[in-house]
Amino acid sequence: MSESYKELKKKLLTAKKNGYDRVSDADKAAMETYCAGYIDFLNRCKTERLCAAEAVRMAEESGYRPYVRGQEVKPGDKLYIRNRGKAVTLAHIGKRPLSDGIQLAAAHIDSPRLDLKPTPLYEENELAFLKTHYYGGIRKYQWVTIPLELRGVVALKDGTALPVNIGAEPGDPKLVITDLLPHLGQEQGKKPLSTAIPAETLNLLVGSRPIGDEDDSGRVKLAVMQLLNEKYGVTEDDFNSAELEAVPASPACEIGLDRSMIGSYGHDDRVCAYAVLKALLDLPETPEKTAVCMLADKEEIGSEGVTGMRSAAFDTFMEDLCAAQGVTLRACREKSFCLSADVTAAFDPDYADVYDKRNAAFLNYGIGLCKYTGARGKSGASDADAETVAFARRIFDESGVIWQIAELGKVDAGGGGTVAAYMAQRNITTLDAGVPVLSMHAPFETVAKLDCYQMYRGALAVYRAAFPR
Ligand code: MN
Ligand code: MN
Repeated sequence: MSESYKELKKKLLTAKKNGYDRVSDADKAAMETYCAGYIDFLNRCKTERLCAAEAVRMAEESGYRPYVRGQEVKPGDKLYIRNRGKAVTLAHIGKRPLSDGIQLAAAHIDSPRLDLKPTPLYEENELAFLKTHYYGGIRKYQWVTIPLELRGVVALKDGTALPVNIGAEPGDPKLVITDLLPHLGQEQGKKPLSTAIPAETLNLLVGSRPIGDEDDSGRVKLAVMQLLNEKYGVTEDDFNSAELEAVPASPACEIGLDRSMIGSYGHDDRVCAYAVLKALLDLPETPEKTAVCMLADKEEIGSEGVTGMRSAAFDTFMEDLCAAQGVTLRACREKSFCLSADVTAAFDPDYADVYDKRNAAFLNYGIGLCKYTGARGKSGASDADAETVAFARRIFDESGVIWQIAELGKVDAGGGGTVAAYMAQRNITTLDAGVPVLSMHAPFETVAKLDCYQMYRGALAVYRAAFPR
């Protein structure tokens, strides 16, 4: 008996379905609870340091303890290390030995922003400004005329690091970068977007009220320094050893009349970082293989630096855990699996021409599985092998996780990278996967709640799985 056309089509062809046609009411309720927690996390974690501190607080609450070199490492143990306050690795020790490898999910907690220069404060025409040096890939025109807050630390010579928070508390003043009025923006308006706002004009307006007498000079700058001194006890020299970040002041919020989306600064990559962290902390049972969550810094500038994914800090912790079980790190690595959990570009109908519709990720279609990233012929990509993608398909399908295939824009439209390449360099089988984002790297990015929750469920599936079988 021959099959009908409809049956044949169903059997042989891909049928992409909107996630809302696949989730139950119970799933939707769980998604809302999860996303409320995520919004709260976003509002408390505007910098990598704040993310790391919050991750440690949440981990401690879930029974995780700081790892101490030389301690015993046995199934069921919940351990973490913090790397210089900016990166965190957490491990839930599995039933099987570390010689069987780990199930790892890695995300990054740094986001594009405007860092202050080492000598930032100056006065010009009786206005005080702070000079910035942008961090990560930003579209400069998006960062002017929006309220900004200043977060980070000032490190003093005596070793103390003073947390700085200007703009985040209710009633706090905000900072802003000005832009031309349209009336006088004719010449600027003719320039390409990428050059219309020069980086050296990204200066934060921080004061206009002078102190002293009218024949004094630099009165507004001194007034600002006086305020900083009153609040933090710092002097201008202390800026030299500060890490201060201007980040958007607007809080995260629901987007859309149907409240189906979340708008916020820093979805890249806190939407994945929160998912992989929360999934590990929520894991009720001792996993088969050791489940590890890595929250890395410095991804946005190439994973460099001692807190980035190229640093040996991660390996040192893993090597210590392995040593406690009499296992070599190299034996552990070759049997490990890493989900490089980082956001991907969501298809935007307004800019359809930069995507390949047949391979792009869509809002509400779940986690985007990215076999490769890179640019100009996959250059710089990890390019996971077919077997690895098959493994992810299997574990997600077995757990009912909603996922889709994702490609970061059409070929030669641009591109990007993640920590995947640095995990793969360690001889760890790695696959990129993440939440699709609209307006990625903007001061206010948008994601779908459904995809956020599927990322969490996907991370749970990764921690519970065992690669290779
Ligand atoms: Mn990212
Ligand atoms: Mn990014």
